[in-house]
Amino acid sequence: IREESIRRTKTVCTYCGVGCSFEVWTKERHLLKVEPAHGPANGVSTCVKGKFGWDYVNSGERLTTPLIREGERFRPASWEEALSLIARRLGKIRRKHGPDALSFIASSKCTNEEAWLMQKLARAVVGTNNVDNCSRYCQSPATMGLWRTVGYGGDSGSIRDLEQAGLVIGIGTNTAESHPVLATRVKRAHKLRGQRLIVADLREHEMARRADLFLRPNPGTDFVWLSAVARFILDEELEDRAFLGQWVNGLDEYRASLAPYSLNYAEAVTGIPADTLRQVAREIVQADGTCIMWAMGVTQQCGGSETSTAISNLLLITGNYMRPGAGSYPLRGHNNVQGASDMGAMPGFVGGYQPVDDPAVRAKFASRWGAELPANRGLDNHEMVDAIYAGTLKAMYLKGEDMGIVDSNANHVDGAFEQLEFFVVQDVFFTRTAQFADVVLPASPSLEKDGTFTNTERRIQRLYRALEPLGESRPDWQIIQGVANALGADWRYTHPSQIMDEIASLVPLYAGVTYERLEGFASLQWPVAPGGADTPLLFRDGFPFPDGKARLYPAQFIAPLEAPNAEYDLHFNNGRMLEHFHEGNMTFRSEGITAKVPGSFVEVSPELAAERGLTGGRFVRLVSRHGAVRVPVLVTDRVQGRQLYMPMNTPHAEQAVNRLTGSHTDLSTHTPAYKDTAVRMEVL
Ligand code: SF4
Repeated sequence: IREESIRRTKTVCTYCGVGCSFEVWTKERHLLKVEPAHGPANGVSTCVKGKFGWDYVNSGERLTTPLIREGERFRPASWEEALSLIARRLGKIRRKHGPDALSFIASSKCTNEEAWLMQKLARAVVGTNNVDNCSRYCQSPATMGLWRTVGYGGDSGSIRDLEQAGLVIGIGTNTAESHPVLATRVKRAHKLRGQRLIVADLREHEMARRADLFLRPNPGTDFVWLSAVARFILDEELEDRAFLGQWVNGLDEYRASLAPYSLNYAEAVTGIPADTLRQVAREIVQADGTCIMWAMGVTQQCGGSETSTAISNLLLITGNYMRPGAGSYPLRGHNNVQGASDMGAMPGFVGGYQPVDDPAVRAKFASRWGAELPANRGLDNHEMVDAIYAGTLKAMYLKGEDMGIVDSNANHVDGAFEQLEFFVVQDVFFTRTAQFADVVLPASPSLEKDGTFTNTERRIQRLYRALEPLGESRPDWQIIQGVANALGADWRYTHPSQIMDEIASLVPLYAGVTYERLEGFASLQWPVAPGGADTPLLFRDGFPFPDGKARLYPAQFIAPLEAPNAEYDLHFNNGRMLEHFHEGNMTFRSEGITAKVPGSFVEVSPELAAERGLTGGRFVRLVSRHGAVRVPVLVTDRVQGRQLYMPMNTPHAEQAVNRLTGSHTDLSTHTPAYKDTAVRMEVL
């Protein structure tokens, strides 16, 4: 191989919110290697997905041309024909039923620029706020908890603050598998620097085994033990009075809201001994800085927003904001969950969380876009499904999301898709959801496009095109522009940098972002001032409320809805596994990874396996109120008692965990309560 025929291209990983960046070595379309070198979030590290999860870009299953439905089959079509059909059908529905009969779902796997164009298409071209992204499925409750208390929904510091903290608490996060490189940095600080580590989770995963203190609360009860710890701190006068006096409002009301949460009550509800909770409280107040990181074990519950609020309240009363080595770290799942939300792919906000019901905000966008924006809040993902069943939502344009597998209660969602009058799916593969589409558009994956992602620590980074788009596939931003122009717009973007210039002009959080400032491995953490100064640590000068003070927010305990009963006697938990990503459309097409982990399984505790006469590899049928799956058993002491765990990643749609989950959601954000499911197990 001659050196000059090899290209080295900087990109950013698409597999989790850590945002590892590295160079991809290519020769023509061959991927030679992935080499991390200068990543601001990862240094020289990647996990197995970032290193080996890229074969899928050359899969023979890639979509390479638009497809149009003809009866039960699809036929290849030209871009011109596909775009013209989309414009005709969407236009007709809009004329007959109004703009709110249409809906748009952006992808948290795609770039900031692509999320921006999707919401612009919805608002400025079609005239609806019916636009959302998959943060609805994961992190919206965390954002809600932080908005209520500290004003910004993002991580309050950087990954390096997690290394510097005296104490890290992980709640409902299997960090070593879901955010592996971030976990490595915490593990190193714990082992080499004496950092204390507390983990609260249902499963005894790697981080739990490493922890100084492992709490195993009953499912869905984190709010109760967090509130009891907070009440104990206030009762014992261990709070940070100086910080509270200067920077926080609402102490009296908050204190009153904690009245029910004695240590004894918490022990009865959560199963965690009162003495252990006293120890947690003392660890927090004695630590030189506490960071709390949390993920879907907290958010994907009926009370996800309430528990996220309780976490932030606890940090506020102990003075764990506004300084390095402290703060709140909701770990974003997808690589660009943060960015897709920042870009306004949400029904109530345009870019930078500017509310659509604010006339001044709408006027600013109208003047730049030359189009009036709708004032009413739109539908979120969950409400869209209901609106399809109600007959008010007629069309959907979905990109980069296998919604029929990843939304909860998948059988119910399938039924909704069947009722759509017109359905456009845009993806890299012919996903299971695409089976319901009228038009399928072939998109390019990250290695075939330029753009930016924003990781869990609000860090904006550039990715560069390493490969030409395969066949007739196109980057999503080009496709969305094609749809917009077919609907009558006159967009003329020739490079994503022009889209970022527009974003910077309208979104204060991104005001100083330019492609030049992000060249190569450079990065910026929002808010970015017009001159380019960024913000690794939020709240240094106060909180983004009129008086600069944070707000203690009295929250309430919302008990799980699907507690096991006589008929459905087992608690069913689900989440990620290290080797695979999300529904598996990419990593199960990456040979190196699939060879190691070819499929899914259900984890069963040794005691339950003994009770049911089960050994590893035996197939069982899991049945919930909403559906059933057939899956092999893995006997492991990671789970205990009558709790099951199943990875959400599977190559078989009929085996997806969401065949079992229901439609109940977090009350404040409509994030599905994926973790609140009861099943029974039939041995096959
Ligand atoms: Fe890094 Fe996450 Fe990608 Fe692994 S999956 S390489 S931790 S960004």
